[in-house]
This record gives sequence, structure tokens and C-alpha cells, in this order.
Amino acid sequence: MSVDKRLFEPDQTDTYDFHSAKPTKWESNEDIEHYVPTHCCYCGVQCGMYLKVDNGKVVGVEPRYDFPLNQGMLCPKGATAYQTVNHPDRLTTPLMRRGGKSSPLEPVSWDEALDTIARRFRELQAQHGADSVAVYSGSSMTNEKCYLMGKFARVALGTRHCDYNGRLCMSSATGANERSLGIDRASNPVSDSLHADVIFAIGANVGECFPIVTSWLWRARDRGAKLIVADPRQTPIARTADIFLPLRSGTDSALLNAMLCVVIQEGLVDEEFIRQRTTGWEETKALALQYTPEKVAKVCGLKAETIVEAARLYGKANAALIYTARGLEHQSKGVDNGVACANLALATGNFGRPGAGYMTLTGQGNGQGGREMGQKASQLPGERDIENPEHRAYIASVWGVDEKDIPHAGLPATLMIPAMLREEIRACFMICSNPMVSLPDQHTVEKALRALDLFVVCDFFLSETAALADIVLPGNTWAEDEGTSTSLEGRVIKYNKAVDPPEGARLDWDIVCDLARRLGKGQYFPYKGQRDIFEEVRIATKGSHSDYYGITYEKIEAQNGVFWPCRTEDDPGTPRLYEQRFGFADGLARFHPITYLPPAEEPDAEYPLVLTTGRVIYHYLSGNQTRRTPFLFEMAPCPWVEINEVAAAERGIADGDWVTVRTRRGEMTAPALVVRSIRPDTIFIPYHYGNAQAANILTNPVLEPMNKIPEYKVCAAAIAKAAEPPAWAAGLDPDLLKQARRGRHALPSAGGKVGPRVQ
Ligand code: SF4
Repeated sequence: MSVDKRLFEPDQTDTYDFHSAKPTKWESNEDIEHYVPTHCCYCGVQCGMYLKVDNGKVVGVEPRYDFPLNQGMLCPKGATAYQTVNHPDRLTTPLMRRGGKSSPLEPVSWDEALDTIARRFRELQAQHGADSVAVYSGSSMTNEKCYLMGKFARVALGTRHCDYNGRLCMSSATGANERSLGIDRASNPVSDSLHADVIFAIGANVGECFPIVTSWLWRARDRGAKLIVADPRQTPIARTADIFLPLRSGTDSALLNAMLCVVIQEGLVDEEFIRQRTTGWEETKALALQYTPEKVAKVCGLKAETIVEAARLYGKANAALIYTARGLEHQSKGVDNGVACANLALATGNFGRPGAGYMTLTGQGNGQGGREMGQKASQLPGERDIENPEHRAYIASVWGVDEKDIPHAGLPATLMIPAMLREEIRACFMICSNPMVSLPDQHTVEKALRALDLFVVCDFFLSETAALADIVLPGNTWAEDEGTSTSLEGRVIKYNKAVDPPEGARLDWDIVCDLARRLGKGQYFPYKGQRDIFEEVRIATKGSHSDYYGITYEKIEAQNGVFWPCRTEDDPGTPRLYEQRFGFADGLARFHPITYLPPAEEPDAEYPLVLTTGRVIYHYLSGNQTRRTPFLFEMAPCPWVEINEVAAAERGIADGDWVTVRTRRGEMTAPALVVRSIRPDTIFIPYHYGNAQAANILTNPVLEPMNKIPEYKVCAAAIAKAAEPPAWAAGLDPDLLKQARRGRHALPSAGGKVGPRVQ
């Protein structure tokens, strides 16, 4: 991986200069040929932006004031996203290991690459069965592509093994939504924050992971809303919360049960709402009453009175909104945690009104749409169940295939790894994913990917994962594509094409359709463009919960996005769910009693601390794009280990020391960032880095039993001063490291030497 050094050189006039206040050529509006309205390619907020195009190249970005969610704002990632488009690391030719696994990747023609893939897939399937080939897809791509990948797997390859990287981020939220509410989408638009009296963010580092949503929180506060934050770290939003609950990682459902217990004991439940709109209350109530704040305080590492205070504040609100994200969901009990949130919101009647709801914030750009389009192991388009005969028959009619030819449920992404090691999966087509950074227990993941007979990766950069592939196909960035994406609100928006892919690269959808043709299934993929695929998406999702039938490209433009479900062309869409009914056939929401169970791994004498991992504002997911972006790289050039000053002092660790963190999976060395803003029993490492810098060397691959999300947020760990810096430190500019450290200390989330101590 290389950072585009050209961008650091002030004398280059064709690039942006970060070190000079003087605008360079590309910042001058007279030189811009046109502005293409589109959206940021990164997080689920999907901020509106213009791409500036000059001479057939994307040369800059400006925020859109007309898009309701960001209203002229962009975070550092969005403001620099355009720099990936012309980056010198772009792949511009297919690459292949012609001489087998140990040979280097070398340039080949598109015909040679695609013919080889088609031939080898057919050979392997003939020898080992259709399911020996898997599709591992992504969610940071358009709905059109997500839909295409599910269909490609089931129709062109005929394999049951198709899943996506949303398994690693959104599957707990899906499980909770489906169990409690019946529809897998945030219940409210973000603008509902302005109608809430109380916002309760639990396991949601809003300031760093969904930066522009923070502005809505501040506006809500300006209007008088109270803010409760529960997180083991004092994140930026926690710093000014009315109540901050620095809970122990992995104890969320205990806290939520205790809050429900207080709400019941103090008569703050909404009896009428419970009677008219829910089922299962009595069992849930009986169990919740056992979770007294005094008992739970010990489990969560909190003060009982603070739990009571938070429960009262939440329970007395006329309208309360819960925000959750990966902090609560990246756990082996992630679905239970989400259900416990829904229980609290249902008990207090907080659904179906402005400012009242339970919103899971999606991390990936199209984390919402990607989970509806039928690329999940057990799903057909429109969140349809691949085992439901009616759903199968409907999709078979849309695809023009026999229902019997649609494979049944396959393995989720996290279970594909062991299946590769068992040689049940012998080949894999992967797109828009980087599991060599993102999956836990990296050593095992590497072994599994290397064991494949044929590993194909489609990407626009040579990611850590693509570097292991047998064949790499150079695809497109979002600026070169057109298609829809669905934001964390459930708002369907549209990316517009700004430029062509660089010579030698191709559009992903075109590559996949070409491969389908070479597999002899071209008649099922006759699309002339992305619009044709979207027209099929509309029909395939018709009548489902996530109904896109009434959405057209023109309507998206006219309305600045359309919220699903949108059932007819006259239907304006549905910004707020559950106003009349929940998603189940009887229209009622479900309470489920949740028994708190501890995380799979707890601290012990050998591993006395809790390791938790997460994002920082400067990077997106596996960092494949943002680590190549100069400003973002400068601000966070390598991982670090955030440790409380008390825990550091006990171990003789000073700020900036190199420390080695060990867990039962492995060890990694990184600089210590000594702070006050994390629990003394917890350490934090950002997960955006690869190889020896990968936090996921350490994390526990244990899975949530229903939805198979790994427990990234909790494992037992030990930390000590490192004997010497890691080998990668030699390649890192020490000044850059110092500058990045200063930047981290300046952030409220790091705490630095200001702010209250986390108790
Ligand atoms: Fe907006 Fe998210 Fe992009 Fe930042 S990363 S500009 S918050 S969409």
C-alpha cells in the first residue's frame, strides 16, 4: 500500500496541497467543468456531496447543502474521499498467478482472467459439487451490485454459499429488529432526533463513526433534549452527556434490564401501548424485575444510583430515542442486547411517534440496502426467506428460473472460513471485502484463504486480502458507477457517475455479468446498465417489508431520497416506521425476556484486562481506502493501544511507550496512548489496519449463536511494555507518529489531561 506522496508536494499544481493555505488549481471553481451531485461512499450517513470534475478527472469535492442529512457538512473522510479515484495505487489490469500459488501476480488480459475463472469454477464444481464455490460479497456498494451478487451466486454459480461482510457489522441489529419489531430498519429518520426529549446512545460512538449525526445530537440538545451515553470509553458525545454510564464491555443487556426494572418499579411503563400494540410483556416484566440496579451495578461496573437516574430520565421522557451501533452489537450476545433495547422502548411506548424509537446506526455506506438485496446466506431479495416456498417461487418467477434450481441457505461469511479449512469450500469470488483486516483471528483467516484452490478478488486497490488472491479483477470506485444506496435511515439515495474508470479497469456489475456469460448463464443477466438492474430490484422487492417498487431513479432525485417501504409510484415513502403496526402479520411487537449472560471470554489472572476494538474518525472499515488518503493517514498512521492512566501506571507504561498486547489468539505491538477516558480495566485498539498492525490478530472469533457476528468488542487481554518496537515502526516517520498522537490527545475521546476520569 502506498500513500499518494504527490499530494504532499506543494509544487504540484494538479493535486491538492495540504500544507499550504493557498488554493491550488483544482480548488478554483472557474477551472471546474462540472459538479456531479452524489453521496459520500463511506459510512451509512451517506452525506450529499458534489464531485468536481475537470478534464475527465475527479479533482475535488464539495458538500451539498440541499441534502437534508448533512446540510453542507462533511467529515474528514467525506472531504477527502475523492482522492481515491485517481490514486496511483488503482488497479488497472487483471492480475493472475500464472505459475500457481507461489508465483507472483502478473498482468493478464481480461479474457484470460475471466476465462480462467469460469473454467476453474466449472471444473471445481464438477469435481466437488456446486457448493464448493462461494461468493463473499460486500455492503459498501450499490443496491444494484448487492442484488447482482446474490443472483450471480444462486443462478450463475448455483451455489448455496453466498454471504457478505455485513455479517460482521449489521447482523445483530437484524436479529433484534426481526425478533422484536418485524422489520429490519431503523425506526425513525435522523431528523426525529429534534423531536426527542431524551436520546440514549448505547454502544454508539456517534462522533467518530457517524460524525454528521453528531450535529443532529447537538441540535437536539440545543432544543432541550437530554443525552444519556453508555460506553466503556468516554467517546466525544459522552463528554457532554447529561448522564454517562461507563459500563464494562459486554454487559449491555444487564444494564438495559436494570433500566427496565426501574421503569417498572417507578410506574413509568406505558400500559396502554403495551396492551394494544405488543405481546409477551408479562414474562419480560417478571424477568426484568430480577435485575435490580444494585445487583446490576456490580456486573456493569457502574453506580446503582446512576443507573436509576438514567432509567428515570429515559422513562419520564415524552419521546425517547435509542441509538445503538457496533459497541452493543459486536458481541456474542449482540442480538439479545438489541432485543433488550427494543424491550425498553416498547415498555415505555416509544415507537411510532416523532422522536420515539430505536435506531441502529449502520456503519457501512450501504449497510442497510446490502442486507435487503438477497446476498445474505439465508435471504432472497426484499429480505425474503430463502427457505420459504412462497418467497422462493416469487423470486424464481422474477429470475425466470425453476424454483427447485434456487439453492437453499448456505454458510454465513464467518463460517465460510472453517469450511475453507475443511475443504468444503474450494474456491471463492470475493468483492468489496477485506477479511484479512476485518475478520477475527487473522492467522486462521489467512490459512483458510491460502488453502483455496482458486481465490478471486474484485477490488480497485490491492487490499491485504487481494494480495493473497490467485486472480485479481480491477473494479470501479463509487465515482465511476451509478446506482442506489440506502442510508442508515432507510432512505434510498442515488450515486451518479462522475467519470469513467481508469483505462484497464471495468465497472463491477459489467465484470460480474461478463463472468455469468462465460459460465453459460448470460441469458439471466441481460442488463445494459445499472438502471436495468434497479428495475429488476423494484420487482424483486415488491410486496416485501423493504419494498422498493415505488422508487425510481427520477423520484429519488426529485425527493432527495425515498424511504422504503415505498409501494407505488404515488407513495412518497415511509420515513417513520410503526406508526400504526409493527412488522409481524398481527401488527404487534414482541417482547422477549433477556437473561444476561457474560461475554465468552472474561479477564483472568493471565489476561487481566478487557480488550475492545472499534473505529476512529479518520478511517473507514478496513482502511483499504482511507489509509491511502494522505490527510487521513497523517492523522492516524498506525494503530495504538488506548489505556487508562491508572492501568498504565500499575504496569510502568508511559504515554508513547511501545506495548505488546497478548490474547489467546496472538499478540501485537503498538504505541500506548495513556488517557483518562477509558475504564481502567479496559484497553482499546482501532481495527483499521492490516498484517502485523491488525487488531483482529487478537480478537475472539466466537460467534453470536443466531446471526453469527463475532465478538469484536470483548476479549481477555494482557499488556506489557514491549521489549522493542515492531518491525513496521521502522517504516513509519517518527514526526508523523508524534503529530498523530497530538491529534489523538486533542480529541475528546482520548481524554488527554482534561475532562472527568472514567470511574
Ligand atoms: Fe458523511 Fe459518513 Fe461520509 Fe463522513 S464518512 S462525510 S459522516 S457519509
